[in-house]
Amino acid sequence: MASQKIGTTPSESSYDVVIVGGAMYGSSVAWFLSDNPDFNGSVLVVEKDPSYEFTSTARTNSCMRQQFSQEINVRISQFAADFVKNMPKYFGDDPRVPDLSIQSYGYMYLANNEAFADVLRDCQKIQAACGAGTKILSAEQIKNDYPFYKTDDIVAGSHNLIDEGYFDGNTLFDWWKRSARERGVEYVTNEVVAINSNEQGNKVTSVVLSSGEKIDCGTIVNASGPRAVLTAKMAGIDLPVEPRKRYTFIFDAEQPLDRDLPLTIDPTGVHMRTDGTYYLAGCPPDVDPAVDYMDFDQDPNIWEEKVWPIIANRIPQFEAIKLMNSWAGHYAFNTFDQNAILGPHTELTNFIFVNGFSGHGFQQSPAMGRGTAELIVYGEYRSLDLSPFNYQRIPENQPFVEKAVI
Ligand SMILES: Cc1cc2nc3c(=O)[nH]c(=O)nc-3n(C[C@H](O)[C@H](O)[C@H](O)COP(=O)(O)OP(=O)(O)OC[C@H]3O[C@@H](n4cnc5c(N)ncnc54)[C@H](O)[C@@H]3O)c2cc1C
Repeated sequence: MASQKIGTTPSESSYDVVIVGGAMYGSSVAWFLSDNPDFNGSVLVVEKDPSYEFTSTARTNSCMRQQFSQEINVRISQFAADFVKNMPKYFGDDPRVPDLSIQSYGYMYLANNEAFADVLRDCQKIQAACGAGTKILSAEQIKNDYPFYKTDDIVAGSHNLIDEGYFDGNTLFDWWKRSARERGVEYVTNEVVAINSNEQGNKVTSVVLSSGEKIDCGTIVNASGPRAVLTAKMAGIDLPVEPRKRYTFIFDAEQPLDRDLPLTIDPTGVHMRTDGTYYLAGCPPDVDPAVDYMDFDQDPNIWEEKVWPIIANRIPQFEAIKLMNSWAGHYAFNTFDQNAILGPHTELTNFIFVNGFSGHGFQQSPAMGRGTAELIVYGEYRSLDLSPFNYQRIPENQPFVEKAVI
């Protein structure tokens, strides 16, 4: 099955589950459905661009951390770590599935005032209660562990060297897609352009593809990334998710550091980390509006005038560096509370969200994919209770805020 070319026309006119978008989330949900022994339904994944060129998935920084402010987000990343480190086991000991590891250099949050240091201290308690290895460090300890930082203005840092850092999420994505297809999930290159519901307005009945076919569905999953709003609108649903631009820069240092650079979150909001033999830096724009879905323009001033001065200030050795590559990508930014939006719509009960990951979605894809599959098969979450992310909190105006958003 997987070796066959992906076509444009679905082989059937009706599926138990139709997934709109086939990147990290569409493929995660599809794979966990295909892996669930109690599910034997049919799944169609509709993906409009099989090159995935403009997706968040292709433009990610692919890191995971346990330094969150909400316990459930810590536990979600702990499952991600377990999944990544035991990938062959999760794939039924398939000998083709590679062993992956986490490059655990940790995230290093730097606080330059007591108020932020207190936030880090409070979060550390939440993380430690879940078994995470986060430690609060004084400026002296930071300097001792990582002499290359300038720490004059730093009052504390928060760092975790266990299961926190870079992972090869794109290999995970490839295997979800490949394995899901081998197990019978059908992918088509097409676009969902309309969604129909029944007269009572409580069930989605079908989707319409850009090629004209009408496909009936039992459940529809919105896995459309930054375009989640457009898919929701087709069903008459409002969603507080916007495409927000995030810049990534890859640079080479004339004098490389003598040890891995943790994913360092400077108090300015610029972050940087080791990236193979190079380094990676990233930041949001100073003014952060919703952008056009196809606006991936770079702004050269951001590197020259903002990012380079900030990283050279924090690590004076980075005065002499050379920009090697750069790109812009889109966060699916949840403007309501910067947390994932999951579960069914309150009225259209077979419309399921996996949206609004606000820059921490790569690492959440194992837990959210598994949970969404459980919801579809059993009508409830069974492994981790993901109900705090339910869409319902939006009409009820009950934000579930994640403070640690990078
Ligand atoms: C610069 C950057 C850095 C990041 N770094 C990290 C990180 O370090 N750690 C982390 O955990 N997360 C990170 N993220 C977030 C993470 O990459 C995303 O949360 C994740 O990739 C989202 O996957 P997705 O499948 O929801 O969306 P996408 O990857 O955008 O995929 C959505 C898919 O839906 C398709 N689609 C949309 N509408 C339709 C339609 N109507 N019909 C058919 N197909 C449709 C699109 O073509 C696309 O393929 C980062 C994101 C960015 C942009």
